[in-house]
Amino acid sequence: MLFYNSPSPSSVTTLISLSNKSFFIKIMVSKPANLYEHVSFLYIKIFTLVLLNFIHISNSGCKNSIATSLIPPYEILSSIQTLALDGYLSLKDNEDTAKDFGNIYHFPPLAVLHPKTVSDISITIKHIFELGPATELKVAARGHGHSLQGQSQAPGGLVINMESLQGGETMKVHSGGEFPYVDVSGGDLWINILHDTLKHGLAPKSWTDYLHLTVGGTLSNAGISGQAFKHGPQINNIFQLEVVTGKGEVVTCSQHQNADLFHGVLGGLGQFGIITRARISLEPAPKMVKWIRVLYSEFSMFSKDQDYLISLENTFDYIEGFVIINRSGILDSWRSSFSPMDPLQASQFNLDGKTFYCLEMAKYFNPDEAEVMNQSVDQLLSGLSFIPPTLFLSEVSYVEFLDRVHVSEKKLRAKGLWEVPHPWLNLLIPKSDIHGFAEEVFGKILKDTSNGPILIYPVNQTRWNSKTSLVTPEEDVFYLVAFLSSAVPSPTGANSLEHILTQNKRILDFCKRAKLRVKQYLPHYTAQEEWQVHFGTRWEAFVERKTAYDPLALLAPGQRIFQKAMSTSS
Ligand SMILES: Cc1cc2nc3c(=O)[nH]c(=O)nc-3n(C[C@H](O)[C@H](O)[C@H](O)COP(=O)(O)OP(=O)(O)OC[C@H]3O[C@@H](n4cnc5c(N)ncnc54)[C@H](O)[C@@H]3O)c2cc1C
Repeated sequence: MLFYNSPSPSSVTTLISLSNKSFFIKIMVSKPANLYEHVSFLYIKIFTLVLLNFIHISNSGCKNSIATSLIPPYEILSSIQTLALDGYLSLKDNEDTAKDFGNIYHFPPLAVLHPKTVSDISITIKHIFELGPATELKVAARGHGHSLQGQSQAPGGLVINMESLQGGETMKVHSGGEFPYVDVSGGDLWINILHDTLKHGLAPKSWTDYLHLTVGGTLSNAGISGQAFKHGPQINNIFQLEVVTGKGEVVTCSQHQNADLFHGVLGGLGQFGIITRARISLEPAPKMVKWIRVLYSEFSMFSKDQDYLISLENTFDYIEGFVIINRSGILDSWRSSFSPMDPLQASQFNLDGKTFYCLEMAKYFNPDEAEVMNQSVDQLLSGLSFIPPTLFLSEVSYVEFLDRVHVSEKKLRAKGLWEVPHPWLNLLIPKSDIHGFAEEVFGKILKDTSNGPILIYPVNQTRWNSKTSLVTPEEDVFYLVAFLSSAVPSPTGANSLEHILTQNKRILDFCKRAKLRVKQYLPHYTAQEEWQVHFGTRWEAFVERKTAYDPLALLAPGQRIFQKAMSTSS
């Protein structure tokens, strides 16, 4: 709150109230007796108002909230350098943190913190927070930088390299008891968690298709793959988190302890705190995977079978699918390294330039259970309506299956095709809207080319925790449809970034026109009004959490949700 007394002729007195602290700026002048004195008085008045204008005040409860906009960011960085940190601050050669997998937005930070301990993160954030609301130094936690639209970047701010927090000794598997779990750092990669937990015969239940992502990065979104219909996304399989809030406080939270922060951070787009540790639920890990693909020429049959499979109690362990539109090269098929055991059978089927839908399923098993597993697979397949000669089977190790995208990554890197722009679009579409969507989008908008894989994950929301920050369509069954486009120069321009962005816009415009109740996954918006629409009735709660845990809006500026400090008074 800001008050200034209307000046008595003899003084200008200003009271600045900073939540529970107040102080006065009092400038004494003598009573203006002539024109000269009157002008002087006016100057002082203007000076005071200008000064006040520089002082951004809030009731957010921080200390020393004074005139921080007068402190240039490099001075804040100098003061951070005086902090007793175990890690270090890097002021140059930080180009990598101005990039991400999307390769569309590039905003360099001023500095990068490489923390060694959680206390490095907490001390740094607390220090910035205590400088007050006018500080313009924002802070982005960066996991593996596999965001698509600059979400892990901090334009002119501070990036915290979360991977420097990871390390073998921090990962602890608790294999005893009814609910085994692993404690990991927020900067650990899922691939490392897989290898470490497998040493104990255990593994997490829910995955992403690609494992070279950090725990903090995927838990800030959801973490969805073919297991999500059964176990929910990764955010459903977390027992406990340790979080550094936007005030620099280190808080342990779970469903039973600081539950509001726990649910807020899961799927919270990095807005309420930095995940420094996570306790992840585990299950006994299988050794092998039966991996199956079948084709459909009709979307309706394909989605009917997806729905059927996710509705069964005893079903596959993994269910996904994808659209095949004029498939031509590695950029269309890179998302998986499937190689059927019977290539002869595969080559008999001619796609002939038509659009097909591939249902992909997997059944986990141990070698001594192979017979029972095969019977169960046969029974499940007998209930499906795919095109009979298109049954492709493969058997791979569990690790090979889960790390399948990495094989393709290596191939793409070798051809210089991994670091191209990725204008991806991910949509969550309710079951009642999926047919209209498929008809228009696969049948018309993307009739000739898809610029990359289009994945379809069917999920059963009844198994998802509705208390997290993740926003989904309000229907029991919905689909994640992921358009994973790569932009590369081509003679026709059909694969150019501009072309794909236009195509994405056509898809979004159609959804709006047709009033489909679609939500973006890994959402990207540029205006706060769009975020409000995205969150719908949950926007108010989201803002309340921001006010409680990151009142200066320091965290995750690359999401472009909050630009300014949050005010507790309206
Ligand atoms: C090749 C590829 C395949 C993918 N496959 C899938 C998939 O199958 N399923 C799926 O759900 N997603 C998938 N994704 C999307 C991916 O889950 C998200 O982009 C995820 O955020 C990337 O993790 P990251 O570690 O690179 O995070 P970053 O890009 O580094 O960060 C993402 C966001 O999280 C914030 N953040 C990072 N670390 C923390 C932390 N410790 N605490 C709080 N906030 C933090 C950042 O500030 C940023 O806002 C894929 C992405 C790629 C590039």
